[in-house]
Amino acid sequence: MTSPTGPAPRIDLHTHSTASDGTLTPAELVRAAADAGLDVLAITDHDTTAGWAPALRALPPGLRLVRGAELSCRWSGVRPEVPLHLLAYLFDPDHPELVAELTRVRAAREERGERIVALLRADGIDVSWPEILSGAAGGTVGRPHIAQALIRAGLVGSTREAFGPDWLGERYRLPKEDIDVFRAIRLVRAAGGVPVFAHPRATRRGRVVPDELIAELAAAGLAGLEADHEDHSPAERAHVRALAADLDLFVTGSSDFHGTHKTVQLGAFSTGVEAYERIVAAGVTEVASG
Ligand code: AMP
Ligand code: FE
Ligand code: FE
Ligand code: ZN
Repeated sequence: MTSPTGPAPRIDLHTHSTASDGTLTPAELVRAAADAGLDVLAITDHDTTAGWAPALRALPPGLRLVRGAELSCRWSGVRPEVPLHLLAYLFDPDHPELVAELTRVRAAREERGERIVALLRADGIDVSWPEILSGAAGGTVGRPHIAQALIRAGLVGSTREAFGPDWLGERYRLPKEDIDVFRAIRLVRAAGGVPVFAHPRATRRGRVVPDELIAELAAAGLAGLEADHEDHSPAERAHVRALAADLDLFVTGSSDFHGTHKTVQLGAFSTGVEAYERIVAAGVTEVASG
């Protein structure tokens, strides 16, 4: 991967497809990544590996695919618990305990989505759960799918607005049945994968965990921290970098691309070759080459 003379490779390690709450199919996602000039793309759908096979089949020449997922986790050290996201790369997708946990979380997401819709309907808001579920087309269902129903109903103008406090951000927000973050790190490592904390200081999304917890997660097997992400301010990025240096973790940067569910574009943020190589060296699954 390292070339002494050529330009630095473009590496985007956090993207979503229709296997969760993105709007491009896995095949469209890998083609879009090649068109955007990326050299390495990770597919990291929420709580599923369902996008891996179709992404692999459509992999364009010259693009490398890191297979991953973004696990819905929680930290129970404070009440209410803090939800957080753990990226997991290059793990065995058939590890039984991990498979069971992801299946459980996806089922709980459906139940929670249906309860959010019931709350909306109780307030006279005409959104339909069967329609939202079919909008997710078999992918992991999430609030962005409910946001689409609010947009279709003309109640909000954008996904961003749908995540405001009057809607899915607070008033109609319900917690998910997330995985305890220590258990998630243990499972990802047991499955031969590499765990990276996604957008750990994104205060604009809500509460974040203290640095002391991140130190404990590092001791439990966490490998890296996502520093460059659109939800981090420059000060938050600098903080994450300093913390990673202290804890001997690598840092990544990624777009967290969701197609038209967000405005960010593929490759908007990227990861350095050294961090990429640490992930490749530690993961049990090969990086696929197109
Ligand atoms: P859920 O996983 O159902 O709790 O929904 C969270 C997902 O909603 C995240 O993974 C993002 O894709 C998306 N999301 C969160 N906040 C926003 C926002 N302000 N604007 C657009 N999408 C958002
Ligand atoms: Fe998402
Ligand atoms: Fe996330
Ligand atoms: Zn994400």
